Amino acid sequence: MLIKSIRTAVMLLSLVSIALVATSVFYSALREHRELYSRYVESDLKALSDNMANDLVGVLSRSDYFFELKRYLLSLEPYENVIGAAVYDKNWNVLEVYAGQALLNRDAPEPVNFSDWKIHHQGVHRVDENLAAVKRIGESSLVIGYLVLIIDLEGPLHTSTWNLATRILPVAIAVILVLVGLFYALASRWLWPLTQLSQFARTVQETKDYSLKFPVYGKYEVSSLSKDINNMMDAIRIESDINQEYVELLEQRREEMEYLANYDSLTRLLNRQSFMLMLERSLDAAKDQGGDLAVMFVDLDGFKEVNDTLGHEVGDRLLVEVAARLKSYVPRKDVVCRHGGDEFLVLCQESDQALVQLAENIVNGLKQIFLINSWEVRVGASVGIASASDSEFDTQDTIRNADVAMYAAKKAGKSRYSFFEREMLIDHQRKIDIANAIVPGIERNEFYIYYQPKVNAAGKIQGVEALIRWQSEALGCVSPSDFIPIAEQSGKISSLTEWVIEHVCNDVKLYFQTLNEPVLVSVNLSAYDLKRYQFTDFIKSTFEKSGVRPDLIEFEVTEHAYLDNFDMANQFFEYVSALGCRVALDDFGTGYSSLSYLTRIPIDLIKIDKQFVENIGSTARDDALVLTIIEMSKRLGMELCAEGVETNDQYNFLKMHGCNMMQGYLFAKPMKLGDLSKYLEQSEIRA
Ligand code: C2E
Ligand code: CA
Ligand code: CA
Repeated sequence: MLIKSIRTAVMLLSLVSIALVATSVFYSALREHRELYSRYVESDLKALSDNMANDLVGVLSRSDYFFELKRYLLSLEPYENVIGAAVYDKNWNVLEVYAGQALLNRDAPEPVNFSDWKIHHQGVHRVDENLAAVKRIGESSLVIGYLVLIIDLEGPLHTSTWNLATRILPVAIAVILVLVGLFYALASRWLWPLTQLSQFARTVQETKDYSLKFPVYGKYEVSSLSKDINNMMDAIRIESDINQEYVELLEQRREEMEYLANYDSLTRLLNRQSFMLMLERSLDAAKDQGGDLAVMFVDLDGFKEVNDTLGHEVGDRLLVEVAARLKSYVPRKDVVCRHGGDEFLVLCQESDQALVQLAENIVNGLKQIFLINSWEVRVGASVGIASASDSEFDTQDTIRNADVAMYAAKKAGKSRYSFFEREMLIDHQRKIDIANAIVPGIERNEFYIYYQPKVNAAGKIQGVEALIRWQSEALGCVSPSDFIPIAEQSGKISSLTEWVIEHVCNDVKLYFQTLNEPVLVSVNLSAYDLKRYQFTDFIKSTFEKSGVRPDLIEFEVTEHAYLDNFDMANQFFEYVSALGCRVALDDFGTGYSSLSYLTRIPIDLIKIDKQFVENIGSTARDDALVLTIIEMSKRLGMELCAEGVETNDQYNFLKMHGCNMMQGYLFAKPMKLGDLSKYLEQSEIRA
């Protein structure tokens, strides 16, 4: 593209227009000049030929006009333009011919033909580049002869035009130059703001600074363009600011999301997923380098109680404090993560000796009081330690081993640590096997119910407690103390509870309520049963289906289970009480909370836990404890049953102090229904 700027375009355009105008003016001036000049020469020729014709009348009137004529024609010599002249007689016979300066000045003068002029009218004629005047000499009535005078027109015309042109041209060029200069100056002046604008746009593009302002230049459209540009810049700046804020917000969100994805929002420790990734990488590296690593599984003891008694807010604060303490014990190179709930994991790079020190620090450190919202909170921690080499550097297995070791620490009495040992896996595997065998066991009828009598001080039966038994095909005889907690943890307890209730109802319908003196049957419930909303519907419909008398059914709930689900448990108690069932508080005395709740719930019976009965006679304090419970139940108007009565001393003590119901091996062990019916028959005979 030849034209690169508006200025060049404007310049070229103006140059061309000026040139066109100038040329046409120049051309028409020349034409005008030629016209005028031709007319002037023509009238000159006419005047000259008129004069000569007049003079020639006198010359030709003479008889010896020959010389006179020659001399007369020579008088044309000063006229430079005269090509020639010829004088004829009245019959167009040539009398004299004159060749003028113009002819002689020519490079190759051609002779002028004067022979055939008689055909021309009188007057001035244009012949080629010449003008010829044909003139009669004498009056029309008395013609003496004719004069033909020829002059050069083009030569002088050319010269005069040229002279004129050479005079006009410099002026025209000067005018053009001035105009072009003027245009250039104006164009530059008008277009300068545009150049500035272009420069401004480049600066904005380079600096990305939208707060820049374009100075308002020029007039008219240019100035309003400048204002518009500034307005546009303002709009862009506002948009860009908004955009910037938005980008910052997005960036912040992205960081938050990234943080949430990798860290625990409460404790700000690494979360489980990112810990797992890190652990996987560390284990791979340790394996490659022939090193070893250890994982510590830290589980708080008593956290649930804090949560339940002091509320979730305190519980959360406690977790934050625990996390902070953990971090302070753990060396910088190690990593702490929140595994979930009150469980933490530590990736340790220490030697065994240092691991022991670290575990001790954690166990002892977390035993110390936490001061939260003015509460002095006490918890503890059970710690399991497993080395990666024990699980061939497998991430899941290393964590599982640490978990198993932690469980062993808990089992050994809590607030301690234990190192993983291979035998622990047997226990762990057995738990898994038990959990997996429960539902198939129900389907294969491997479960059955034993009944243990509850008797009064006189030995008369007051009721029976239904206790589940399991003779597993795969695992042999499994104790309820083993499989009930596993069923609870693996979510299978409700199947077992429902199985027990259905079978108990069946036995009540077919046996216990058919007796002369119908016998009350107690069913044990788990804490998990109380949390199920459909559970009450199940009880109601089972009662209806089986046709049992609800007043022959008693539900036993441990004090722990009750206090862990206080509201749900109360609702449940109210519901079953309304149905006519009885409610018993099992393992009483092992709970941790105040006794005030006892006044507010519809409990019919309290069962003193066997550990208190076992301790009767050991110390005065132990006896005092049992006595207090007996006294309390009397005052509250609740029935009392002592469980685990094995000796006569225990029996006598309880009987003497007014405990009206007992259960234990001293009277009868749990037994099959068939054996129980024999037992009842015998006791009736005894009575
Ligand atoms: P529990 O409810 O406290 O039941 C009493 C336990 O004490 C029974 O153990 C019983 O056999 C045992 N026992 C009775 N008299 C004596 C005695 O004189 N000395 C000693 N040392 N023990 C005695 P069992 O049947 O092994 O049941 C253990 C626990 O398993 C029960 O404790 C109960 O919590 C749970 N359980 C048993 N059956 C069921 C059930 O059907 N459902 C639920 N959820 N839990 C059950
Ligand atoms: Ca019980
Ligand atoms: Ca009990």
